Amino acid sequence: MTDIMILGAGVVGMTSAYALARRGYRVTVVDEGPAPATAGASFGNGAQLSYAYSDAMASPSLLRNLPRYLLGRDEAFRWKPSLSPASWLWNLRFLANGTRSAFERNTLEILSLALESRQALAALLARHPIDFDHRKAGKLHIHASSETLEQARRIGELKSALGVDQQVLNAKEATEREPALAHYGAPFAGAIWSPIDELGDPVMFCRGLRSILEDQYGARFLFRTRITGLRRSGRSIAAVSTSQGDLATPRVVLALGTGSLRVAQSVGIAPPIWPMQGYSLTLPATPDAPTASITDVKRKFVLCRIGERLRVAGLADLGGADTPFKPERAATLLRTVGAIFPKAGDYDERQEWTGFRPLAPNSRPRIGPTPIEGLYLNCGHGSLGWTLALGSAERLAVLLR
Ligand SMILES: Cc1cc2nc3c(=O)[nH]c(=O)nc-3n(C[C@H](O)[C@H](O)[C@H](O)COP(=O)(O)OP(=O)(O)OC[C@H]3O[C@@H](n4cnc5c(N)ncnc54)[C@H](O)[C@@H]3O)c2cc1C
Repeated sequence: MTDIMILGAGVVGMTSAYALARRGYRVTVVDEGPAPATAGASFGNGAQLSYAYSDAMASPSLLRNLPRYLLGRDEAFRWKPSLSPASWLWNLRFLANGTRSAFERNTLEILSLALESRQALAALLARHPIDFDHRKAGKLHIHASSETLEQARRIGELKSALGVDQQVLNAKEATEREPALAHYGAPFAGAIWSPIDELGDPVMFCRGLRSILEDQYGARFLFRTRITGLRRSGRSIAAVSTSQGDLATPRVVLALGTGSLRVAQSVGIAPPIWPMQGYSLTLPATPDAPTASITDVKRKFVLCRIGERLRVAGLADLGGADTPFKPERAATLLRTVGAIFPKAGDYDERQEWTGFRPLAPNSRPRIGPTPIEGLYLNCGHGSLGWTLALGSAERLAVLLR
């Protein structure tokens, strides 16, 4: 049996652990949090398995709106470029991915990984049922203007080449599909309906997966363990340095989300990952909450019902690494969503959360070997890590053989 250490117990680390344990590796997972998916982006994310919405972040539309974002004139997306050379390099690469051809290439690449993820989740659940408030709810992208709806229709045509079926609905058809839109607080032109999209609670999923890994695959977990760097011996990985001392290992998978860059730098590797801060609210749902997942394209938030709870997520603040929770940004999200879905939940009972999406310039995760023997990456999943985790883990396992 080959030993392997997975650094990070978010959705990406946990699914990597599963894909490798199933193939006979002896797996140890290390994380500074007290349990899986508690200390990183996986904890409070939008809970959406957005298989059909694989659109890359850098796009022609982002380039067109850049001045608004840089001047802070968009409530949902803010970009304050930092002055560090690493940040400027990342920014330039991000902008270079905003051309039409790069956007389409990136979007289709992400889509194919998303479709692999969908299959991998179904296969996992067939082998090991996990209760994580999973629903095949489908998703509606609400468009305020017919111009953005038309743009989305064109991107949908591209996606149909990979067999993804998205339907364009006018406002009346969308409201027939999702009656909760009768209470939608603004006029809208229509929606894109993605029947293959699903949702589920990533924390419950990771908790269930941990039990399966421990009970059926003999995996070990080291929580409350801070990773400070990696150690190499010649061209190979030798150990992981942690708050509990050095842990010798011949193979390591780096799945630390936004923490990946700092740890990789200790052995001279620099995966281009930058944190993009977002916020979420979790509150009791009412019977007027939508059944389908919702993305509000103009206001850039997602909303879905997870069991009895309503989860709303949004805002994208790019620039400052490690900035703390800002009450005024959570208030912006609350104000926006409260005006659009006033009846969907009990907003007074909300729990607020902030997290950092580990974003690569082309929005595509880094998966596979590095120049250091025994060191593998599975990081940089940006806005779609929950959606892409299972497929990424399967790709990693194939590359490790
Ligand atoms: C507001 C918001 C909404 C989102 N909504 C969605 C959505 O609806 N659908 C979707 O698919 N994706 C969504 N995402 C993106 C998704 O949450 C991330 O892409 C995904 O969680 C990344 O998973 P990960 O395992 O790579 O990273 P993380 O979940 O961040 O896990 C990394 C782990 O590494 C640990 N770690 C980091 N550094 C160290 C260290 N030095 N020592 C020890 N441990 C360390 C952390 O404790 C953490 O547990 C959203 C993100 C945000 C912020």
